[in-house]
Amino acid sequence: MTTPAHSLATVLVKPGEADRLLAGHPWVYAGAVLRVSRAIADGELVQVKDHRQRFLGVGFFNAKSKIHVRLLAPERVEVNEAFFEARLRAALELRRRHLPGATSFRVVNAESDFLSGLIVDKYEDVLVLQTSSLGMDQRKAQIVAALQKLLSPRAIVERNDQSSRQFEGLPESSGVLAGALDGDVPVQFNGLQFTANLAAGHKTGLYLDQQVNYQRVADLVARIPGAQVLDAFSFVGGFALHAARAGAARVHLLDQSAEAIAAAQRHAELNGLADRCSFEAANVFDWLKARTATAPHERLIPPFDAVVLDPPSFTRNRASVPDALRGYKEIHLRALKLLKPGGLLATFCCSHHVDAVTFQDVILAAAFDARRVLRRVATFSQSPDHPVIPAIPETEYLKGYAFEIAR
Ligand code: SAH
Repeated sequence: MTTPAHSLATVLVKPGEADRLLAGHPWVYAGAVLRVSRAIADGELVQVKDHRQRFLGVGFFNAKSKIHVRLLAPERVEVNEAFFEARLRAALELRRRHLPGATSFRVVNAESDFLSGLIVDKYEDVLVLQTSSLGMDQRKAQIVAALQKLLSPRAIVERNDQSSRQFEGLPESSGVLAGALDGDVPVQFNGLQFTANLAAGHKTGLYLDQQVNYQRVADLVARIPGAQVLDAFSFVGGFALHAARAGAARVHLLDQSAEAIAAAQRHAELNGLADRCSFEAANVFDWLKARTATAPHERLIPPFDAVVLDPPSFTRNRASVPDALRGYKEIHLRALKLLKPGGLLATFCCSHHVDAVTFQDVILAAAFDARRVLRRVATFSQSPDHPVIPAIPETEYLKGYAFEIAR
């Protein structure tokens, strides 16, 4: 692992493949490889060159993955504990600059931090690690040591239970890597108390990527005196509790997971906001359908001043985008029917395959059918601890808008 770069195996890429790498995209696909200088073990550090032998960078090799090389640096670096320490330090610095005051955040967001295959989340004094490439997975001990040095966490937990690991030839594994963890971890977002079940929660526990948007949406709700709010796809109450604290008169939380709704209720109580909240475990599609069904000549009286829609990704691949768009359109059409004139719709899409323009087009198609005209009052992205590098389109996935019903 401390092999000097000049003795590394070389992967040559085909003509035309270098520019994307030079622009900062770190993936060398199998089909881009011209040839290799010798037999390479999966997980080995290699150097990548173009077909004219021009040096492009070093990265981890894995012939089992469609991504044969994940570049780590455009220069000859040794990948050891000191390397990880320097990268982690830079990543932490970025979070402190752009999320000052946050105590829970994503410390490393893979490609966004030039560490393809590595995710590290910080929940107060507990860290959650995901290594989704073989090269990273093999160096877990170095990463853990660097994290301990920089952050002295109470525990480091591994959440490597994604089925996508099979594409790297990696087994699933989870557990405590260092320290000890018992029970849920108390977490603060913008001064509100939550708890994270780091052994089994969604993603690595909570939706850190919405941390900034919770407060921004709440600030918009605060401008509507005595607002009646619906938080659809509420999970454990991120948007709902921020809205309640901002002055909403009533917030109704909807999620199909009874467990998430129970946790949301506990969080509301923890923050002294339970008297303003109501909780329902239900399928949002069915719920909205039932609430918007009208008999002929019956007029629906919209009950809400604000609706938050933060569904899961309806699509994991390009092929299912049309189905996903139908789903997005349906929930927007029905949510718009439930909003009073002047009401606020805050809506999010976390699918990488549905871009911001396409997402807005779907919302506008729903608005047309509902005979509403929308005024856009905010645009949202993922929180800055999930940095977007436009040269790496895969780093961008979360987008959102706030609209007022203008007419
Ligand atoms: N807004 C939340 C994150 C939502 S994630 C937050 O910031 O924490 C999406 C949520 O939608 C999950 O909690 C999942 O249980 C829920 N969900 C998925 N499909 C659903 C459906 N059809 N009806 C209701 N909830 C659903």
